[in-house]
Order: sequence, then structure tokens, then C-alpha cells
Amino acid sequence: MYDIVIIGAGPAGATLARLLDKKYKILLVEKRILEGDFIKRSKCCGGLLAPDAQKMLAKLGLGIPQNVLTGPQMFSVKTIDFDNRIERFYQRHYINVDREKLDKWLISLIPDHVESIFDCIYTSHEHNEDSILIHLTQNGIKFSVKTKMLVGADGAISKVRKQEFKGDKAPDTYVSIQKWYKTEGEMPFYTSIFDKEVTDFYSWIIQKNQYLLIGTAIPINEDANKKYDLLINKLVNHGYKIGDYYKKTGTLIMRTRKSSQISTAKDNVVLIGEAAGFISPSSAEGISYALLSGSLLAKAINKEYTSFQNAYVKSIKSIKTNIFIKNIKIPCMYNAFIRKLIMKSKLLSLDIDEA
Ligand SMILES: Cc1cc2nc3c(=O)[nH]c(=O)nc-3n(C[C@H](O)[C@H](O)[C@H](O)COP(=O)(O)OP(=O)(O)OC[C@H]3O[C@@H](n4cnc5c(N)ncnc54)[C@H](O)[C@@H]3O)c2cc1C
Repeated sequence: MYDIVIIGAGPAGATLARLLDKKYKILLVEKRILEGDFIKRSKCCGGLLAPDAQKMLAKLGLGIPQNVLTGPQMFSVKTIDFDNRIERFYQRHYINVDREKLDKWLISLIPDHVESIFDCIYTSHEHNEDSILIHLTQNGIKFSVKTKMLVGADGAISKVRKQEFKGDKAPDTYVSIQKWYKTEGEMPFYTSIFDKEVTDFYSWIIQKNQYLLIGTAIPINEDANKKYDLLINKLVNHGYKIGDYYKKTGTLIMRTRKSSQISTAKDNVVLIGEAAGFISPSSAEGISYALLSGSLLAKAINKEYTSFQNAYVKSIKSIKTNIFIKNIKIPCMYNAFIRKLIMKSKLLSLDIDEA
């Protein structure tokens, strides 16, 4: 029997697995293949490490290896407000990474005492008297493992959350579409686009070497493909030249608007990262919360296995407060009238000489 089974080897699960004490018998289950060069089921993500994620990496004593970086590195965000027809630049330092390589690097730091199984899907679990039985599938073969504790680090579409916390209110759900287009140009800034005809959230453009990623997040009850096409039309009319289409990725993305949409721990089943609802409702930045919640759970378990649940729930209060503050800031970004006043005032904006 395992002490801890972790579902998902994204930044949250990999951080937890890396930091847990070696006295525990641990199994890490991941549906992607994240070993070697082969990539199956690539992650839909912008791959920008915002200042909060940079701070978390610093706190964890980590620096990013060169092969995880991609180009260009960006020091500003260009904000295009189609609702008010205004554009501004703001200083912001992101680290531009290859998301797949970031995940692989975090996994490479996991010590040998953690058993890992890739290309393996968690399907469900059931509680027994003194254990939890986890049902897994690999290459069509079904099998089960027993554990004392189950951790759901399985991201936005968390099956662990869906099963164990089904009575809880889920975060607002958006469908994210991100398409890759070839480019020969240089776009040395991150672009965020506000347009209420497209979405009440936002859209973005990020360069990754010879590709431009154009993405958006659409409320789940709307036609995401239609809205994506509308975004592209608007960009073309605005003067953007869209290069040859390369590939499309898509997934769900959570927007946690209330503390009640966060689920954390119950009956030895615990959630970390986006599975718990830890994601910025203003920018959709989630990597910092994944790293932080993974490390907080490791601390709680390493300190006292039997009472980890209370310690973890207490420690994530800071994350809840942080998400609450981000929600308070939302009208400044998403109310078209307030945004217009702020952008018109040129407060904190940069004058940039665009070539
Ligand atoms: C389009 C888009 C762009 C984004 N851009 C950024 C950005 O630029 N910067 C940023 O900070 N955040 C960004 N985010 C958010 C960020 O990607 C997530 O918040 C972050 O990855 C959460 O980390 P996690 O470890 O909790 O979950 P994930 O990174 O989602 O990892 C979950 C893992 O669980 C695995 N898994 C899921 N289900 C199962 C199962 N049933 N069985 C086995 N394994 C399973 C998955 O394969 C995955 O590896 C973006 C999100 C989206 C959708």
C-alpha cells in the first residue's frame, strides 16, 4: 500500500513529489509521456512565468536551465483595448519558456524514491475502511492501487475533484483555444487583448521562437470556435498578418471568482494547483499557485502525516487571500469604462518606439 498517490505531474504534482520526505512510499501518476523527447498530449499553456512564479522558483531555490527557455524574452505587455480603441504598453517582466520542457525539467528533479508511471490515466477511486483504492488505465489495461492518501494535482479538468468534491461549487469554466502560426518577425512583448464581443475574459499573443501563439478563453456556454474566428478577423482588420497555421491546442481553464469555488481536502483526498481552483481570475496565471500549493502540502505532510489536512488548509489561506485581492482588481481590467479611464490617463504606461 502507498502512503501517497499523486495524480498529475504538472508543476503542482512534480513539486509535491520532489519535496516529500523519503520515508513515504509515493506513486506519481501522469497521463502524458514526459520522459525522453516523445510528446503525447501536449499542454495548452502560454508558457510565461510571471513575477509571482519567478518569486516562487526563487523561494524553492530553483533557477531555470537554459534549454527550458524560448525566445524572445519580454519586458513589456502591449494592451489592446478593442472596446475603447486604445493601445498602451506596460512594463512587466515575463520569462518565456517552452511549457513541455518546463514540466520535464520539474519532473527530472523528483528523487528516485518516488515511483512514477507515465502514459497512465486515473479513472476513479473508492474509499475503503482503511485505504483508498485508485483505478488506473495504461495502454488499455485496467489496474488498481491502494493508498492512504490521494492527491489530485490533475489540473483544470480534475477528475479527482469531480469525484470527491462533487457537491462543491466549481470555478467559472472557460474553453481556451490557442493556435500556433508561423512567423518570421520579432514580437518582443506579450500582447493582451480586451474585446467584449469575443470574451468577458481576455485574449493574448505570445511569440515562441518561429511561432506566434494566438489564444483566447471563452465562457463554456458560448461557441468557442466562432469566437476564436471573430478574434482573428479583428486582428487582421487591425493590421496583423497571420502566418501559416501550424497547430491547435485547447483545454478548459478555471476562473475562480469566489473562495467558495476552492476545494482543498476531505477524507484523505487533497487537491493542489489548478485542480483546487488556484489560478488568477484576472490573468489566468497558474504556475505560481501550483508551485506554492505543492510546496505547502509537502510541508504539511512532512511535519505531521496524521494531521496534515488541518495544517494544509490553514497554510493555503494566503493563496485564498491572494485570489480574493486579484478578484477585487478585476473591474480595473475588465470593466470597459474603468479600463478606458485608466488607459487614457497613461498611468504607469511606457512610451515605446515600435519599428
Ligand atoms: C491556454 C492557457 C494558457 C495559460 N498560460 C499560462 C501562463 O502563461 N502562465 C501561467 O502561469 N499559467 C498559465 N496558464 C495556467 C497554467 O497552465 C495552469 O494553471 C498550471 O499549469 C497549473 O498547474 P497544475 O500542476 O495545477 O496543473 P497542470 O499543469 O494542468 O498539470 C496537471 C497534470 O495532470 C495530468 N492529468 C490530468 N488528468 C489526469 C488523469 N486523469 N490521469 C493522469 N494524469 C492526469 C495532466 O496531463 C497534467 O500533466 C494557462 C492556462 C491555459 C489553459
